[in-house]
Amino acid sequence: MPNHKIAKTISCVRDFQNQNPGKSIGFVPTMGYLHEGHLSLVKRAVKENDLVIVSIFVNPKQFNQGNDFINYPRSVKTDLELLSQYPIDLVFMPENNEIYPTDFSSKVKVDKITDYLEGHFRPGHFEGVTTVLAKLFNIARPHRAYFGQKDAQQLIVIKKMVADLNFDIEIIACPTIREKNGLAMSSRNARLSANERDEAKILFQALMKGKESILKGERNSGKIEALIEKTIQESHSAEIEYVSLNDAVNLAPLTEIQGEILISLAVNFGEVRLIDNILLKT
Ligand code: AMP
Repeated sequence: MPNHKIAKTISCVRDFQNQNPGKSIGFVPTMGYLHEGHLSLVKRAVKENDLVIVSIFVNPKQFNQGNDFINYPRSVKTDLELLSQYPIDLVFMPENNEIYPTDFSSKVKVDKITDYLEGHFRPGHFEGVTTVLAKLFNIARPHRAYFGQKDAQQLIVIKKMVADLNFDIEIIACPTIREKNGLAMSSRNARLSANERDEAKILFQALMKGKESILKGERNSGKIEALIEKTIQESHSAEIEYVSLNDAVNLAPLTEIQGEILISLAVNFGEVRLIDNILLKT
């Protein structure tokens, strides 16, 4: 079984880099509780780089509700076991005060595209994401960083931050990995009851209905959103936060379907908030 090193401090990551000059580094940032979705990013990073760094850090700044942070699932032992199956080189697992010392006082904020969707419903969320990623990028100094299409808006926001702030990093988008029934894999799925987990498959089915309707020629986004919402409401446990059709590049909400579009949704099952999306070209 391949052995990876564990770094708990930034200076350990620096030592690792100093011992490995001139090698390409692939970076996979995660919040742990790893599943096949995360591992698909790891596999791709292994394929495309000399060295791979995976980080596990549950970033308090990106949780807009305190309970969500406290309830976020964690399992470092299983995560390390899963990662040991891959030839990765370093796992960066910092404590909170390594990333945010008590006098920490900076933030990174991407405007405009964060006004929509998750940014609208989770105020402050993306500021937390971009702040921690700016730090993690400066710590890991990767050539390539890998992100899942599952968090579609996050991917767009990160690409914008990297372009705006001239990070010399290639952002690689990886497809959403799903359970057999279509449910997008997520660390949060572990908090669903067996019944909710089964009902949550409706999200992908609803997205597929929306896609079908567009492929059949429907161009009115209100009608498509209504169709998706009606499908989700067939599940008794589902509480819809939003269903939205947006331009896939600038995330502007659409009334008329045109070009490359993102259909995305956020739905609560009990206390668990799930998101999913598909991309579509018309
Ligand atoms: P997280 O641990 O939730 O912060 O996710 C870490 C990375 O894994 C992010 O880039 C996510 O988009 C990605 N990811 C999470 N779930 C999936 C999935 N089902 N398929 C592909 N990538 C995923």
